[in-house]
Amino acid sequence: MDRLKVATVWLGGCAGCHMSFLDLDEFLLELADQIELVYSPVVDMKEYPENVDVCLIEGAVCNEDNLELARKIRARTKVLVAFGDCAVTANVPAIRNQLGLDNAESVLQHAYIEHARHNPGIPKAPGIVPELLARVMPVHEAVEVDYFLPGCPPPASRIKTLMLQVLAGETPKLEGADLKFG
Ligand code: SF4
Repeated sequence: MDRLKVATVWLGGCAGCHMSFLDLDEFLLELADQIELVYSPVVDMKEYPENVDVCLIEGAVCNEDNLELARKIRARTKVLVAFGDCAVTANVPAIRNQLGLDNAESVLQHAYIEHARHNPGIPKAPGIVPELLARVMPVHEAVEVDYFLPGCPPPASRIKTLMLQVLAGETPKLEGADLKFG
């Protein structure tokens, strides 16, 4: 039987959700028998592949690169999971939305000029430093999301519950004790 093609992606996040994924410990070995990890920060794959069964997206959509990748992932993935609170609500990266700054240039000005003690200057490197979006978005505002896995980060037990449901071909459903920490 073909193994499930699984991807994990890191957009605007701190990698804490991926650290929690690694906290699955010995369950990772069980997963390795049942899935093929086709794209992830922990594997050396440059291009997001076609025909991915399940993708866990960590992080908010903060810049043009995030947005382009989120759209590509959606087009190439059957089941897309918003993985952690930054993906679900935009969470920490969206703090800049609260500054009342109306565009990315104002954000950069605020951070790199007004608050700079040394060498004020906005970093610009077209094609290298991606352009910020005017506003940080949770993933579901950029593309359609199938399931939400909350937590900052989601505890490993919650990730395991969701993955077991996915592997069993069930509709992921987290409720009651599934949502407890620990
Ligand atoms: S949800 Fe929390 S742990 Fe995950 S990327 Fe965001 S800040 Fe980090």
